[in-house]
Amino acid sequence: MSGFKHKCPMCNFYMGSFKPYGFDLPVMYEKQVVGGGRRENARCFICGCLDRERLIYMFLKHQTSLLSDNIKVLHFAPETVLSRKLKSIFSHYITADLNAKNVDMTIDMTDIPFPDEHFDLIIANHVLEHIPDDKKALNELKRVLKSMSGLAILQVPISLNSEQTYEDFSIDTDEGRLHAFGQEDHVRLYGNDYGDRLKQAGFDVQVFDWKSSRTLYPKKKNKFGFIAQEKIYIVKNTRN
Ligand SMILES: [Zn+2]
Repeated sequence: MSGFKHKCPMCNFYMGSFKPYGFDLPVMYEKQVVGGGRRENARCFICGCLDRERLIYMFLKHQTSLLSDNIKVLHFAPETVLSRKLKSIFSHYITADLNAKNVDMTIDMTDIPFPDEHFDLIIANHVLEHIPDDKKALNELKRVLKSMSGLAILQVPISLNSEQTYEDFSIDTDEGRLHAFGQEDHVRLYGNDYGDRLKQAGFDVQVFDWKSSRTLYPKKKNKFGFIAQEKIYIVKNTRN
């Protein structure tokens, strides 16, 4: 772990590498799933944050002005380190989950108990692939997101060699879902049509590649230990 090749932007410690995290299944290789499976350089030795938490934090910090704003934030299935960080920054910050107990509110994403256009920022990292009616969830997210200025970050595992999202509700056992979708509680595996699905829900979609940023990819080095092929899906509610 010792060395200076990498830096964790959450705890600011330098290290030679991050820790491996995750486990692999054949489906992860076969479908080239980004955001799932085993990664060699994933968990921080010091603070314990994961690659995908670091990416979202660095995106918010360097590609938006949101971290300095007095905004209303809703964070689904909050990652521990990212959540702690955001809680220290925002005064209107709510964590939510359908099953987990250590959150502010129990919320079903298909029925969000907030008025229209309430939130400036919504984060849902690896949540939609758990929800059978993801269209309804997207409609709800759009409803509670402020139009024009509001922004949501909706990350999911994506199969890079699948054009279409794979969904089969007849697969209804833990083992079946594990083999088909890569995790016992996933109900689909998104493909390259993920952005189109977000557009169909009425969002404007922007796809951010961290390799396009000199700050996130300094000297073309993966200094912060991001997932090489992960892109951030940012959606806005700019349509009527
Ligand atoms: Zn750290």
